[in-house]
Amino acid sequence: MKAAGTKLRTLTTLFCVLTILVGGAVLTWFQVLAEELEQTSAVAQKTIQKIDTLLDSSRQVANNAHLLLSQPCTAQTRTELERLVVSVPHIRMINLYKNNVLFCSSFDDTSAINRNYAAHTKQELTLIEDKNISPGDTVIVLQTAFPEGMITASFSSQWLIEVLELLSDQRPLTLHIGDKLIQQKAKSTAQDKARHIVEPSQKYPYSVDYPESKAVPLSRYLQQGWLSLLLTLCLALMVGVVLWRHIFHRPSLYENLERAINEGEIVPWYQPVIRSDTGKFYGVEVLARWITPSGEIISPDSFIPLAEESGLIVPLTRKLMALAGDELPALFTTRPQPFHVSFNFTASHIQTPNFIEECRAFLKRFPENSIRLTAEITEREPFEKVNELKETLIFLECHGVTLALDDFGTGYSNLNLLTGLPVGLIKIDKLFVNGISSVKESTKLIDCVIDMAKSLGMKIIVEGVETEYQVAYLTHKQVDYFQGYYFSKPLPVSELAAMVKYTYRIPQLEEISHA
Ligand code: C2E
Ligand code: CA
Ligand code: CA
Repeated sequence: MKAAGTKLRTLTTLFCVLTILVGGAVLTWFQVLAEELEQTSAVAQKTIQKIDTLLDSSRQVANNAHLLLSQPCTAQTRTELERLVVSVPHIRMINLYKNNVLFCSSFDDTSAINRNYAAHTKQELTLIEDKNISPGDTVIVLQTAFPEGMITASFSSQWLIEVLELLSDQRPLTLHIGDKLIQQKAKSTAQDKARHIVEPSQKYPYSVDYPESKAVPLSRYLQQGWLSLLLTLCLALMVGVVLWRHIFHRPSLYENLERAINEGEIVPWYQPVIRSDTGKFYGVEVLARWITPSGEIISPDSFIPLAEESGLIVPLTRKLMALAGDELPALFTTRPQPFHVSFNFTASHIQTPNFIEECRAFLKRFPENSIRLTAEITEREPFEKVNELKETLIFLECHGVTLALDDFGTGYSNLNLLTGLPVGLIKIDKLFVNGISSVKESTKLIDCVIDMAKSLGMKIIVEGVETEYQVAYLTHKQVDYFQGYYFSKPLPVSELAAMVKYTYRIPQLEEISHA
């Protein structure tokens, strides 16, 4: 059950942590993608501005050459054209056309130009390959029409590639002129992918676009998204820890018990012990009760075994002693003889180095000689380290702590130990009392136990007396004290006060037999 619970807790926590991690990674990816597209769009706008500036200066050159259109193509005209070419760094050639026929050029060999440029004369902007003038290079040709004719100014497409490469460091931009295109060499990507077309230039017939794909290179993703990824990781870890430790965590009985001890939910109740000769109150056995915040009272049978197994019994008993030390002194004031106050101790607790100090601290809470502290040790468990235990018990006796052997007859009957021990009291368990009835032979077992205890010369408390007959019979057998529901159940301190001064009538066997 516990393993299945832990597995479910692990899986649920892992699922939540992974969901946060994946969610964070996807959001980061969206964020990086959006940033990249936004930056590329801004770069494309800037690229268009730069290209427009290049074309503007080409157009200006054409305007400057306008007057030459109305002149014949003389050596002087050509010299003027050459001067215009060198006046603008990127311009390579200026041609003058009349009626769509080239009549003058800044380049010497007009026959070569005729063949190539004449075909493009109808487009304002063209991209052509000119093997004769600049082999291996493409050339941009800008036409400017005038009433007298037309002027073309051309420059190498290398200028545009440089603009593209200079500005765009993310998505490769592509420049479209007519049905031709110019691309950044290093970054050219497949053309069939979806592309985003940037708002075209207002002045010239070309357009710029870039791939619209949702892919983001891993290096860029990590570079731009590291902070977001780090925050996601921290968030996932925090949520994981909170879920694991607090939300999906059902505290074990051990953890609950430890918390209950620390928060004072384990409290002492007191069961009166009555003298068989006078029926007067002799003292109490302190019994643990777990009272939950909702008021539920949990019996010690459900938590003492775990407390004993886990070692929590020691802090638990210390807490009971502290609380009893707060509650009892006010009740135990006037009395000629000391009141009996007994606690159930485990052998391991008794052997802790501080035990004597704990007993002394408890005794100090009471006026001197107003109580007799009794340590009940059960013989349900076998005693270990017998010699050491003997020494400790003798030491305790010397410090005024009486010893009582609990559940006598039910367990290991450590009789050999008893002979050498300062045990002053024997508690006969309810188990033996249950059998007592007026039926002949029913008392054989308890008779035997009582005789054994008496032979050891010890005082006897009989636990679990419930009926008048049992009290009468045990009084007849001359046991010393009673503890049982016939007199009282264990009580909280508020109800104990009334019991202290109360005297019970002890029924006698003869009365019952004669009745
Ligand atoms: P125990 O030490 O033998 O305590 C006597 C038990 O018998 C108590 O049960 C008491 O309520 C019950 N009892 C007394 N008279 C009668 C009766 O006439 N009829 C019936 N039916 N029961 C009666 P409780 O308080 O439930 O304690 C059960 C056991 O839990 C105790 O047995 C003891 O072994 C253990 N325990 C309780 N408190 C402590 C503690 O503070 N420390 C340790 N180590 N054990 C404790
Ligand atoms: Ca006991
Ligand atoms: Ca008992």
